[in-house]
Amino acid sequence: MELDEETKKRIKRMLMEKRKEFEEKLAKARETFNEEIRARDKATKKHLGDYNNRFYIGDDRLNTLIKCLRKIDEAMERVDQGIYGICQKCGQQIPLGRLMAVPWTEHCVPCKNLSNGRVGAVS
Ligand SMILES: [Zn+2]
Repeated sequence: MELDEETKKRIKRMLMEKRKEFEEKLAKARETFNEEIRARDKATKKHLGDYNNRFYIGDDRLNTLIKCLRKIDEAMERVDQGIYGICQKCGQQIPLGRLMAVPWTEHCVPCKNLSNGRVGAVS
């Protein structure tokens, strides 16, 4: 089953809104993280020498948000390529309900559960 143009447009809009939301979250998380680093360095009177390293690899919250943004970009590309909504693992159409809930998803629920190692958790 192919997604019709109307649905594709709707999904693209959702993805763009989500992208904005995640960008704002990322900006805020970066601010918070910078403040935490400043506070920590002040407390320990440590030099800011490896500041950039810590900024990029040090914080899971930032990494998760960056990963989400990348996934959203990839999903938008898949819409353009006409392969959006198809599970990247098994090639099955992902149910519309799941796409609406997690528009940047690239796997159907069974495949996602498999890759999470939660076999049998599918209801
Ligand atoms: Zn699948």
